Amino acid sequence: MVDPKLTDEPARMAALDRYDVLDTPSETGFDRITELVRSILGVPISAVSLIDKDRQWFKSHPGLAVSETPRDVAFCDHSIRQRAPMVVNDAREDARFSDNPLVTGDPNIRSYAGIPLETPDGYNIGSLCAIDTVPRQFDPGQIAILKNLAALVVEQLELRRIAERDHLTGALSRRAFLSEMNRAIALFERHERPASLLLFDIDHFKRINDTHGHPAGDQVIRGIAQLCTGLQRPSDSLGRLGGEEFGILLPETAEEDAASAAQRFCEAIAATEIPGTPPLRVTVSFGVAELRGDWPTSESWLAVADMALYEAKRSGRNWIAVARHDASHAT
Ligand code: GH3
Ligand code: MG
Ligand code: MG
Repeated sequence: MVDPKLTDEPARMAALDRYDVLDTPSETGFDRITELVRSILGVPISAVSLIDKDRQWFKSHPGLAVSETPRDVAFCDHSIRQRAPMVVNDAREDARFSDNPLVTGDPNIRSYAGIPLETPDGYNIGSLCAIDTVPRQFDPGQIAILKNLAALVVEQLELRRIAERDHLTGALSRRAFLSEMNRAIALFERHERPASLLLFDIDHFKRINDTHGHPAGDQVIRGIAQLCTGLQRPSDSLGRLGGEEFGILLPETAEEDAASAAQRFCEAIAATEIPGTPPLRVTVSFGVAELRGDWPTSESWLAVADMALYEAKRSGRNWIAVARHDASHAT
């Protein structure tokens, strides 16, 4: 019987996209697993290969110089078409691979064992593979080890995804938001790409909790996050930085446009009745800070936005304040 999930490419790509892992830096959790494959199976190369639309991209690839290859030469693209492990004992003797450039040239693949990386909902997003430059057999014990390690790769991806999202709102966690800010800082330093940070905090939120109870407060926090997600551009990131404090990162946006964006969010929030029992209205205050060389770390950037936010609160709330250029020197 044909397994429909093995041929549903759009759903497979959606499953891969949910992990938000393509083109991210290497992470020790994955490198440890590929190093274990190399030492336990005694192979020179191991990789966590993820099959994107037109390429295979390696999250970890000890022994391999390149970080990606076109999809049409990827052994792993064959692995993801089946549930069972894919084993090639001698690629030169296999009609599918004998003229593959990865076999006829660098890295001179001769043997391969790949276990599909199957998501909990049944999509093969890539494979964990062991590669040798000489023909060889893989015994059942080695395949069993590889299967367990492939399951660990998927668990690692799942944990990574959970850690990146705030449970209540689905917004980025503080840690993930700070790493987005660091990405923006790197782009600013290397290519002078602008970016702005909007920091906001719900006004008089204690009253909501005190009057209507903590669950109603949670409902408001969730409602505000939902509203912002609906208003933001696809390239913007929303993060929950603390209890009822959020950040919105606007890439490619300088101060003036950032301030108008904050205005838009601020007005929309004040004008919206958040569904719940009872439905509630709240206002928020914003601190706006364009990224500058004066505040070159996520902490210092956040600190000047926080000072502006404090300013907005002091100005009476439901208000926006823009960070002063000398803010990092203010006392
Ligand atoms: P301000 O206008 O100055 O911001 O006043 P505020 O009352 O909002 O003061 P503050 O921001 O200091 O208070 C935040 C309150 O939010 C305190 C805390 O009890 C509550 N809170 C923090 N996290 C959560 C949460 O996850 N759920 C709920 N319901 N309340 C939370
Ligand atoms: Mg507050
Ligand atoms: Mg607060």
